Amino acid sequence: MRIYKVGGAVRDRLLGKPVTDIDWVVVGATTEEMLAKGFRPVGADFPVFLHPNSGEEYALARTERKSGRGYGGFTFHASPEVTLEEDLIRRDLTINAMAEDDQQNLTDPYHGQRDLEARLLRHVSPAFAEDPLRVLRVARFAARYAALGFTVAPETLELMRQLSESGELEALTPERSWKEISRALMENQPQVFIEVLRACGALKVLMPEVDALFGVPQPPAHHPEIDTGVHTLSVLQQAALHKQPLTVRWACLLHDLGKGLTPEQEWPQHIAHEFKGLKLIKAVNERFKAPRDCQELAMLVGEYHTHGHRALELKPSTLLELLQSFDVYRRPQRFEEFIAACEMDARGREGLEQRSYPQADYLRGAATAARTIAVQPLLEKGFKGPELGEAIKRERLKALKAYKENA
Ligand code: ATP
Ligand code: MG
Repeated sequence: MRIYKVGGAVRDRLLGKPVTDIDWVVVGATTEEMLAKGFRPVGADFPVFLHPNSGEEYALARTERKSGRGYGGFTFHASPEVTLEEDLIRRDLTINAMAEDDQQNLTDPYHGQRDLEARLLRHVSPAFAEDPLRVLRVARFAARYAALGFTVAPETLELMRQLSESGELEALTPERSWKEISRALMENQPQVFIEVLRACGALKVLMPEVDALFGVPQPPAHHPEIDTGVHTLSVLQQAALHKQPLTVRWACLLHDLGKGLTPEQEWPQHIAHEFKGLKLIKAVNERFKAPRDCQELAMLVGEYHTHGHRALELKPSTLLELLQSFDVYRRPQRFEEFIAACEMDARGREGLEQRSYPQADYLRGAATAARTIAVQPLLEKGFKGPELGEAIKRERLKALKAYKENA
């Protein structure tokens, strides 16, 4: 049997990037031989194994044929006769379809090296169209390598467009889509992921609510960039620049969905967009089965981001309601993430990227004031149950009044 490094490990070494996980392909071997060498099988009828010591993935060279809709509709054919070139041709991009032996000899039948130099994300063969997930993968790689100057080859974008129009994207499972979306959002230029999806028409299929924001104007006084879609991309970019976690990035992407529902005659105002957007945010959350913390933060940021911006003007009672809605006493981290999302929203505007955001510290201070009221004296006065709850609320309101006066 012959063993080669493939995929990302080869690509990233040639790019001079750190290689984290290594995928291997094994040519000329049978499942029985792999098992005899101590490799552990990963899936039932999937010819992939884990190395007994390193735990890295070793896949038998295989060919694939599409036999139905979605990813379940694939037939694999792995046998010792399958060649390295046959295995590489089923891969998505030419830069991902190179192999390397233990002497660092490169096998590159589809010119991945040439495309690396040309900074092009190009599909390997027309079989690209057999797995719609590749549309998301290419957009994700575009987001990752945008800083190096990579773009999607026009003929690949065209294939992605055809795939998006064919209805195949709808066959993707929420789990597979979310895995790509969440990884893409964590790249350095997550806005490129959305841009590429939009350019090939996939955004309209996957997240029509986000797609609808492009072309929707906002008041230039607050939004020099005017376009709501452009603003959303800037917010996402700010979130990446500020190394925000996935929850915040997801909330940033969805925070203004309500603006897509505003009747044209009300443009560029978007009255109550926070509230109107909630059902759209919920729909996107559920479509991709986003993890609960992402779902929750997106809903809260959607509803309250303008409260965040107006923090210094809020009445103490409104401030208290805000803190209660976030259950800030038990979930301080989530409130921090809300503040971060608001700040990214404020900075994701043309020319305002460097502005200060005093609301952030003001909100933190308010949370601390409300959190540090003394409960013991209330217990000593004999308050219990719901009455204790009310008494605590009154104390918090008092604390917030004092806080606002002294701020
Ligand atoms: P990363 O750095 O994100 O791990 P990678 O290229 O290693 O990038 P993997 O998802 O680990 O990506 O997959 C390893 C290789 O398997 C890819 O480089 C590609 O050749 C191939 N591959 C993975 N998923 C697909 C797919 N859906 N369609 C075609 N080829 C794929
Ligand atoms: Mg990999």
